[in-house]
Amino acid sequence: MGTLSNSFKIAVFEGDGIGPEITKPTLEILKSASSNYEGFSLDFEFLPAGAGHYRDTGSALPKESMDRARAADAILLSAIGLPDVRYKDGTEIRPQVDLRFNLDLYAGVRPVKIYPGAKCPLSDPRAKDIDFVLVRESTEGLFAHMHDGKVVDDQYATETLKITRSTSEKLFDFSFSLARQRAAEKGRPGKVTCVDKANIFRSFWFFRSIFEERAKSFPDVISDAAYVDAMAMWMVQKPWDFDILVTENMFGDILSDLGAGIMGSLGIAPSADIGDDHAVFQPCHGSAPDIAGQGVANPLAMILSAGMMMTWLGHQHGVPQLIECGQGIDDAVTRVLANERGLTRDLGGQLGTEECALAVLEALPSNGSDGNPEAS
Ligand code: ATP
Repeated sequence: MGTLSNSFKIAVFEGDGIGPEITKPTLEILKSASSNYEGFSLDFEFLPAGAGHYRDTGSALPKESMDRARAADAILLSAIGLPDVRYKDGTEIRPQVDLRFNLDLYAGVRPVKIYPGAKCPLSDPRAKDIDFVLVRESTEGLFAHMHDGKVVDDQYATETLKITRSTSEKLFDFSFSLARQRAAEKGRPGKVTCVDKANIFRSFWFFRSIFEERAKSFPDVISDAAYVDAMAMWMVQKPWDFDILVTENMFGDILSDLGAGIMGSLGIAPSADIGDDHAVFQPCHGSAPDIAGQGVANPLAMILSAGMMMTWLGHQHGVPQLIECGQGIDDAVTRVLANERGLTRDLGGQLGTEECALAVLEALPSNGSDGNPEAS
């Protein structure tokens, strides 16, 4: 971890289905974007994992891959999973969940913002101002004992929800710090909203009380709270009001798909799973086996996730060029989406995966783009 020479090792999992198709152009974009900066370099290491690997070898995440991912500075994970490849108990192959648990990646970061040209289903003109981040606790909650659920005598079933003080404190501190960082970037106050069900469940009352304790350490950030059912409604009625939403694992799982829906397509929804020392960056969508191999998958969620990785590495290691590089990738995607001819099929356009990625490559500030990728 961390290097004096600022050479960063990136563990790359190509994934299943459309995974390899969207990984290849993303790495080309990362190479091109980073080649224009002095002061850091990237070194990619491809590691096997996933449903295809499980089918072929019986292991979804080999120990060697896990060890090498742990030793890397960041992990870039493409779409993983295949519907017809499952463990013996019928559950899906999800090494991304194992990575979250093994590396203690407690903060699942799901940015929700409206890119120009994206087909936000909300008709309210304020929808263009939507720009919030959902922080989903990713190591406990209802997923804490996900392999221990029981069906007893075919009569009843139980699952256990776990909230710990130590993880909740770290989760809330992360969320308040992120609000602070965004407030500085955007020149307006930051706000964190705790999303829970504290009116019904003791575990969520505990969650909320820890949130209120931690809020006292961030007096410059506004804090409030909402019940998850109301939040589901408000994410449709007034999503432009939110800055950071922080919530339990299962609630976050559901609300993050709602967030992706607001953005207009899963194909442009990036994500990060962040802990104290490690982080995984992955598109929100699955491996889309229905379109795999056709060259039509939207690569932008993967490219945006790679941009988030650069920004995170920059903050983590105090390298401003990395932050600038990450912002440059986000800006290039924004420019591509602003051009109707820059859209893939899921967004109502005609571009294939490679053409869309090429448009992003040409729109990178360093590649002399005039901000209008018409040429593509
Ligand atoms: P998972 O449970 O693994 O998240 P899922 O069952 O929700 O997966 P996805 O694989 O995400 O399903 O696909 C859902 C739908 O969205 C499919 O019709 C798929 O083709 C489409 N889709 C997903 N990702 C993309 C993408 N990058 N580009 C275009 N379409 C996509």
